[in-house]
Amino acid sequence: MTKQTHSFQAEVKQILHLVTHSLYSNKEIFLRELVSNASDACDKLRFEALDNAALFEDTPNLEVRVSFDEAARTVTISDNGIGMSAEEAIAHLGTIAKSGTREFMAKLEGDQKKDANLIGQFGVGFYSGFIVADRITVETRRAGLAAEQGVRWSSEGTGDYEVESINKPGRGTDVILHLREGEEEFLKTWRLKSIISKYSDHISLPILMRKEEWDAEKSEQVLKDEWEPVNKASALWSRSKSEVTQEQYEEFYKQISYDSEAPLAHTHNRVEGRSEYTQLLYIPKTAPFDLWNRDKRGGVKLYVKRVFIMDDAEALMPVYLRFVKGVIDSADLPLNVSRELLQESRDVKAIREGSTKRVLSILETLADSEDAAERAKYADFWKDFGSVLKEGVGEDHANQERLAKLLRFASTHADEGVSLADYLKRAKEDQDAIYYITADSLSAAKNSPQLEIFRKKGIEVLLLTDRVDEWMLSHLYEFEGKPLQSVAKGAMDLGKLQDEEEKKKAEEVAENLKPLLDRLKEALKSRAKDVRVSTRLVDSPACIVVEEGDMSGHLARLLKQAGQ
Ligand code: ADP
Ligand code: MG
Repeated sequence: MTKQTHSFQAEVKQILHLVTHSLYSNKEIFLRELVSNASDACDKLRFEALDNAALFEDTPNLEVRVSFDEAARTVTISDNGIGMSAEEAIAHLGTIAKSGTREFMAKLEGDQKKDANLIGQFGVGFYSGFIVADRITVETRRAGLAAEQGVRWSSEGTGDYEVESINKPGRGTDVILHLREGEEEFLKTWRLKSIISKYSDHISLPILMRKEEWDAEKSEQVLKDEWEPVNKASALWSRSKSEVTQEQYEEFYKQISYDSEAPLAHTHNRVEGRSEYTQLLYIPKTAPFDLWNRDKRGGVKLYVKRVFIMDDAEALMPVYLRFVKGVIDSADLPLNVSRELLQESRDVKAIREGSTKRVLSILETLADSEDAAERAKYADFWKDFGSVLKEGVGEDHANQERLAKLLRFASTHADEGVSLADYLKRAKEDQDAIYYITADSLSAAKNSPQLEIFRKKGIEVLLLTDRVDEWMLSHLYEFEGKPLQSVAKGAMDLGKLQDEEEKKKAEEVAENLKPLLDRLKEALKSRAKDVRVSTRLVDSPACIVVEEGDMSGHLARLLKQAGQ
């Protein structure tokens, strides 16, 4: 085939115009896009070779090479993947297969920052090369075709491109970027290396660059003929569990979390089904200093097919699990998916639900373990993260029951570690509520006169002293069919536990004391709604209670402190 000139599809022209005229921030992502295409091409070859091993020709080792030529002002990304035939080059590099170009354009028009990061979102990553290049030459040969059936595709990224036949002995694709004036920063080993390790470290193919050595005579760095891998190519999560040691899991955790301590636990799964993804999630042992910042960036990194996408993907984890660290690698999401798309995507929703359940089940395994040492681990976890987990009771209704089982409290029975299930196990036979009191401190709670009757009758009361408890209980009405009831609210009704005789006596007393009660009511008119004879006190002469359904004294004090 002699040289032919083709015109780009109209949409491609629009995209190219945008790319070359208005994408200024995040230029470096062109390398991520081109490396990711190279890696995709290798994946495709590996897949096709399953049926036809001859496609490997004599080079079965798949790899990506990134190089540059200072004199020629070029950066080249080469792969020995599937390559393209002439028809494929014309179809794939001259037209856009996917719909949504118009939305893409509209979005960029509205975006003041003109972030280049948006480009891959609609499957047009290849064109990002034109952000830094005023000409791109692609030399490619499809695996299985003869050397003479190679193709050179070349364009300045304006209206048209040229294609011609070339002789290309090596299978695969070279993408050669002729850099624009002012883009010299990309003609440096360290710069290219740092972009690769930022975005493509976990691509599981080796990404090779020429070794650089200091030449004392010339007193400058010179490129050697030797190539070395510049990515870790580890993608630990994409290996099967049996291939990864405990040490490797810990090492990886430390790398991504900047935590010096080993994690409390991890979970590693490949999830298949409607949405396909791999999750490797860690629970830290101790809380970071900024645990209380609900706006802080999430600790879960999002990858799409081993290409790093973003590291604060809050859409992947509910806020109350913000302490979880790890990686989620989706096989379905588009590369370079935007934050907005993440929020809307059904795949992301499925990932978020699946991951939440995984984290809860790690915690359940620890909390319910037969092994006392494991349960002690959970107790330690609870000390640091319990209050954050409580946020989930109010925010995550789908998992409220599971979260309720993970709660731990102090009670009149034990100073810590009391679960609602423990409480119910010890409850009186006729007891039809779970009783609690809220207070500023454990000693204030313990000394409350409202507990007197419960002590006398040997009924356990949960002592809640955490600031979020009151809020949490406004969302949690019952546990295993038993309502949670404040001992400081309303006319205490102990139900079947109430002594009938005592009750009758109290009624008589109330009758006799009516004149006194009336006088007290009159005297306290502006400060008390009602004055009643109570059976809830044993030693103290009087106590203040709030009306059922009203704010508790504790919450009222908290709100007052907060200036409400
Ligand atoms: P996407 O990768 O989302 O499909 P791109 O604009 O990055 O979109 O690439 C467009 C198409 O060009 C790819 O789908 C592929 O068919 C082809 N292509 C790009 N780079 C290569 C390559 N290195 N080897 C083989 N085919 C490639
Ligand atoms: Mg691509």
